[in-house]
Amino acid sequence: MTWSEWFVNPALTSVFFLLGVLTLYWFMTSKLIKYLEKRKKNVRSSRVQAVVGVIYIMILIIVTQLAVKGTPNGWVFVNFQVFAVIFVSYFLDLNIHAWQIGLLILAYIGINGTFAIGLSWLFAAVFFGLYFAMVFIKEHRHTNEWRNFSDYTLVNLVFAVAMWSVLKVRFNLGFGEVAWQVLFSFFFMTITFVYINSVLAGANTLEQLTYTTNFDDLTHVRNYYSFKKEFSQDFTSAQEHQEPLTLMLFDIDHFKHVNDTYGHLAGDYVLANVAKLITQRLKTIDPDLHLFRTGGEEFTIIFKNYTTATAKTHVTEIADAIRNGHFRHDGQDITISISAGVTQFQDVDDNQLDLYRRADQNLYYSKRHGRDQVTVN
Ligand code: GH3
Ligand code: MG
Ligand code: MG
Repeated sequence: MTWSEWFVNPALTSVFFLLGVLTLYWFMTSKLIKYLEKRKKNVRSSRVQAVVGVIYIMILIIVTQLAVKGTPNGWVFVNFQVFAVIFVSYFLDLNIHAWQIGLLILAYIGINGTFAIGLSWLFAAVFFGLYFAMVFIKEHRHTNEWRNFSDYTLVNLVFAVAMWSVLKVRFNLGFGEVAWQVLFSFFFMTITFVYINSVLAGANTLEQLTYTTNFDDLTHVRNYYSFKKEFSQDFTSAQEHQEPLTLMLFDIDHFKHVNDTYGHLAGDYVLANVAKLITQRLKTIDPDLHLFRTGGEEFTIIFKNYTTATAKTHVTEIADAIRNGHFRHDGQDITISISAGVTQFQDVDDNQLDLYRRADQNLYYSKRHGRDQVTVN
């Protein structure tokens, strides 16, 4: 059955085509982000969306343009291509250079085999302009969504008129056809704007919720809830596969004194900066290691696949870094130290609490024996 036999206006069909294209894109990126997160890869979802988006759009443009190449219908997918340019320039978190766009346009003219046609270059120039006009209004977005929408629509219409004027001459289109296409382009872009923004709003809320559930607001490191989840998984895995697993618990010494002497805000500052300092260290030591804030001034690191012997140098490095760290708040230098307890998974440990308790006992041994030290047992 061909489209004309469907008795459905092609305009309507293409609206559903557009929605399908966007939905499929969204489905693929969310699946991929989930998959990468599951494998504990550090992913920035906007990065994944951008990379997948560009590849996806390129494939779509090539496929649609090859379908009409050399036919008198070379213009039928133009509104779709305008959508593609706007999608990449306005909605994706990307930084594409002018020369890269130039190369893409050359490739496009190459596919069409229209190097010799002057109007084709004029058309390319309009596309080029559209891309950077969209980037410009994206970078100058307002808090008022209506203003954003009117900027977006204005740029869109100006370029749609320019583009369809070129096509009118090139393909001898009637005035009515061109007017209809410009109007249609407006509908197309409005749907894109509304659809993507509503999906993005939902995704942002979800991302924010996931973040606040797993991360601590003051120090921006993982919280106790996140620790429980990860520790439980790692413990089971250590038990099943006989892999080493080491736990480091530490607590800032005389922290009450910091609060009492310098004030609560200084205490907050120290907590945030201790977390920052250790997070930076862990990145260079082993990017798979994370810091958890498991109590007020108590932190934990899970050394998965480490024995106490292999973790020991890192533990010492962390304690030294904090002792020698420069913490300065409101013109006052604050010196701090930590007491730590370290222990490794043993066959006698029936559950994760046994391991945790031993690390805690070691931590208190450090506290009772003068603080600023590490007890490994
Ligand atoms: P010790 O060496 O035995 O650990 O002594 P300490 O003073 O560090 O231990 P204690 O448990 O007596 O006091 C911990 C203090 O940490 C008390 C509490 O007010 C403070 N604290 C906990 N969370 C925060 C926070 O988020 N911000 C600030 N500023 N202080 C906090
Ligand atoms: Mg303390
Ligand atoms: Mg404490």
